[in-house]
Amino acid sequence: MSYLDKILLLIYVLTTLPLAILLIYKVYRLNQLQPKFNSVKKSLDDMDEQAKLIVRTDMELNKIQEALDKKITGLYALQRLSRIISMTLEEDQIFKRIQAEYLEDLGLEKGCGFLWDERNKQFALRFSIGYRDDEIMAIKSFVNNSQEKFLDFIINDKTLSSVPGANDLISAQQLNTVFKVISFIISPLLPQQNNRGLIFVGTENPETVITEGDEELIKILATQLGQALENARLFEKTWRAQQELEKKVTERTHELTLALEEVKKISARKTNFVSSVSHELRTPLTSIKGYAAILLTGKLGELPKDVRERLEKINRHSDELVHMVNELLDISRIESGKVTMRTEICNLKEIVDKVEDLLSGQLKERKLSLTTGITQDANLVLADRTQIERVFINLISNAMRFTPAQGKITVTSRKVDKMIEVGVRDTGCGIPEEAQEAIFEEFFRVDNAINQEVRGTGLGLTLVKHIVEAHNGKIWVKSKIGSGSTFSFTLPAAE
Ligand code: ADP
Repeated sequence: MSYLDKILLLIYVLTTLPLAILLIYKVYRLNQLQPKFNSVKKSLDDMDEQAKLIVRTDMELNKIQEALDKKITGLYALQRLSRIISMTLEEDQIFKRIQAEYLEDLGLEKGCGFLWDERNKQFALRFSIGYRDDEIMAIKSFVNNSQEKFLDFIINDKTLSSVPGANDLISAQQLNTVFKVISFIISPLLPQQNNRGLIFVGTENPETVITEGDEELIKILATQLGQALENARLFEKTWRAQQELEKKVTERTHELTLALEEVKKISARKTNFVSSVSHELRTPLTSIKGYAAILLTGKLGELPKDVRERLEKINRHSDELVHMVNELLDISRIESGKVTMRTEICNLKEIVDKVEDLLSGQLKERKLSLTTGITQDANLVLADRTQIERVFINLISNAMRFTPAQGKITVTSRKVDKMIEVGVRDTGCGIPEEAQEAIFEEFFRVDNAINQEVRGTGLGLTLVKHIVEAHNGKIWVKSKIGSGSTFSFTLPAAE
C-alpha cells in the first residue's frame, strides 16, 4: 500500500467513522422509539375504528329517525282519521272516511274492512282501497270460507300480521297471497256481539317493512273505528226510539184532540140539556109552590093540622128545588158563555160588609164571629158586583154551616202581582184531602155527619168556581180535618 493509499484510507476511515457512529446511534434511537411508534399506530387504528363506528351509528340513527318520521306521519294520519270518524254518526259514512291518503301516510297502499252480518251469517265488505273488483271478490270469498277462524280471532281480540311469529291461526304466506301483499296487519273491530268485524291493511312494497309499532297504530285505528261504529249504532237506536216516540206523541195528541172535541161536544150537549130541563122544571115548580102557598093561606078552607104540615113540607121542598134549578141554570149559563160579567171597580170591603149584614142573623144564631181583614191596598177589584156577592154568600154560608158554635170566620185580602187574592178562613170541621178537588165538581158533597143532617145541592162551589174563572181568576182550598178550611180565590186588581 502506498503512502497515498494509506492517507486516502485514513481519510475514508475518518469520514465514514462518524457516519457509522451516527448510523449506529440512529438505529439505537429508532429501536428506542419503536414502542412509541407502535402505540401511535395503534391509536390511529383505534381512531379509524371509532370513525367507522360513528359512521355506522349515524347511519343507524338516520334509520331510526326515518322510522320515527314514518311513525309521526302515521300518527298524524291516524289522529286526523280518528277525529273525522269519531264525529261521524252514520255507519256507511264512517267507512267512506277511510281514504287512500291516510293509508299512504302509514306507508301502506292496500286496505279493506269487513263487518259480520249476523242475519246472513257472513262477513260483509264495508270498504276496500287499492284492489280491483275481482281481487276484492276473491278476498271476500276467502274471508267467508275461513269465517270460523276469522271469528275466532275477532272474539279473542287477536291481531294477525306478517311480523314473524305473530300468526298461529292462518299462515302469513297464505294471507300474503290472498291479499296480494308482502306484509300486512289484520286487526279485529269491537269483539262484541254488535259490529263485530275486521280491518286489513298491507303493502306490496318491499321497502316498507311492517313493524310491531305499525301493529300498535293499526290496533288503535281499529279500536277507534269500533268505537265510532258503536256510537253510530247507539245513535241510530236513540234516533229510532225518538222517531218512534215522536210518532206516538203525534198519534196520542191527535187522539186527545179528537177526545177533547168529543168531550166539548158532550159538555155542550149536557149544558144545553141541563139548561132546558131546568127551564122546563121551573114552570111546574112555580105552580106547585103557588098552589101550596094558596092552600096554606086557608082561603080555600081550613086545613087539618097534618095536611098543613105536609103542605108546609111541599112548600119547603119546592123552595129547595127552585133554588137548585136556579143554580143549575146559572151554572149552565156561565158555562156556555151566555152570562157576561158586568165588570166595574168594586170595593171588596163594602161587599163583605153587605154580606155580613145579610147573614148577621144566622151568624148570631150559630154563635160565630166574622172578622174582615181586607186591607186598603188590596181592596179594589175589577169584577161583577152581583156575582162577587154570590161568591161571598156561598163561601161564608158554607163556612158557617161547617163551623161549630164559638168558631171564627175571617175574610182577608192581599195583592199578588196584578191580582187580589181573597181568603175565607174558618175554624170548622175541615175537608178530607182526597175530596179537596172534587168539592168544586157538580153535586159533590163530602160524606160527613153535618151533610147528612143539613140539605144541600153540591152546586154552590161549582157556581163559585165558574164565576171566579169567568173573571180570569182561580179558586182553591187548603184544609185540615178538625182545624178548618181556607178557600182562596183571585180577582183582577183595579188599578
Ligand atoms: P153544598 O154546600 O150544597 O153541599 P157546595 O158545593 O157549596 O155544596 O159544597 C160542596 C161540599 O164541600 C159540601 O157539601 C161540603 O162537604 C164541602 N164544604 C164546602 N165548604 C166547606 C167548609 N167551609 N168546610 C167544610 N166543608 C166544606
